[in-house]
Amino acid sequence: MESKIASAPFAGWNIEATRPLVIAGPCSAETEEQVLETARRLKATSTQIYRAGIWKPRTRPNSFEGVGVKGLKWLKMVKEETGLLTTTEVANAQHAYEAMKYGVDMLWIGARTTVNPFTIQEIADALSGVDIPIFVKNPVNPDVELWIGSIERLQKAGISRIAAVHRGFSSFSENRYRNAPNWQIPIELKRLRPDLPLVCDPSHISGRRDLLQEVSQKAMDLNFDGLMIETHPDPDKAWSDAKQQITPEELGQLLNNLILRRTDPGSNGFLHQLESLRCEIDRLDQELMNILQDRMKVAAGIGLCKKENGVTILQPARWEQIISKYLAVGESKGFSEEFIRKLFMAIHQESINTQTRVMNE
Ligand code: PEP
Ligand code: MN
Repeated sequence: MESKIASAPFAGWNIEATRPLVIAGPCSAETEEQVLETARRLKATSTQIYRAGIWKPRTRPNSFEGVGVKGLKWLKMVKEETGLLTTTEVANAQHAYEAMKYGVDMLWIGARTTVNPFTIQEIADALSGVDIPIFVKNPVNPDVELWIGSIERLQKAGISRIAAVHRGFSSFSENRYRNAPNWQIPIELKRLRPDLPLVCDPSHISGRRDLLQEVSQKAMDLNFDGLMIETHPDPDKAWSDAKQQITPEELGQLLNNLILRRTDPGSNGFLHQLESLRCEIDRLDQELMNILQDRMKVAAGIGLCKKENGVTILQPARWEQIISKYLAVGESKGFSEEFIRKLFMAIHQESINTQTRVMNE
């Protein structure tokens, strides 16, 4: 795997300048033996930071909720024996005090905590004046403002080294991921806060090991700075998140398989080619806008017609007809069902808004 100078955001983090920065280790610390064996085997990979959950936020009660404070001693042993830096999840002020007492190098805030400004504030207050590096996972719901808000609360407490971790978002609709990646959200975060390093957590996005390579590659292609991947000496026997964990050796293989593309556009020839393709895209986007404008004009005409004849705006049978027709057309053109559904739902919603305006005029 090509390794190069880490992107500037990690300056001051006391880590080697490699891309991706690799954070690995089990979902949960289970036993001293499991924690240490994972760490020893990870030493053969480019992992620099060892992760393990000590307090586990579980969706349902009566699941394994973490070993608690005794696991912090095991993390200390990992650091002493292997030199790996350590990190664990803190979900309240008490966790933060305990983790720091045992010399954990970095903390992470989980998705279920980022979502709650009260808890984040409590943790920020507990950390005030400490300046320990923190990874902030995205909130469970797809809300970039909430993510940024949590980061700002920690920054206001004096935390200067913060990285964002993209671990996907809960969604009600069935999809192939455990947590839908919604890549546009971390991309938006990067646009708004280019100063923050961005790490991808393919394990919690995928929920299953066969998707890890693909999601990790996508993160690299989108210029993420690091990867957090759950690893376990015997993944099928893991006490939490068994389906998504891989062995340290499989992690080594995954990292070797990554293709790291250049982030700079490079030679002039390439630049020109890129420029002309972008012009073509701009032209097509403009055309799409014009077509949509025409379509909304027709929708306004339909609105008027419905108004004059006293019929409701929403005609479910008609909508059903449109969506099933274009799902088939979309498929023949190689578009995913998800894309067609989202596209037509957005167009349909705008049409309804247009018709409503006309009706109320
Ligand atoms: C984890 O990393 O094990 C974890 C619980 O993460 P998340 O907050 O992303 O669910
Ligand atoms: Mn997990």
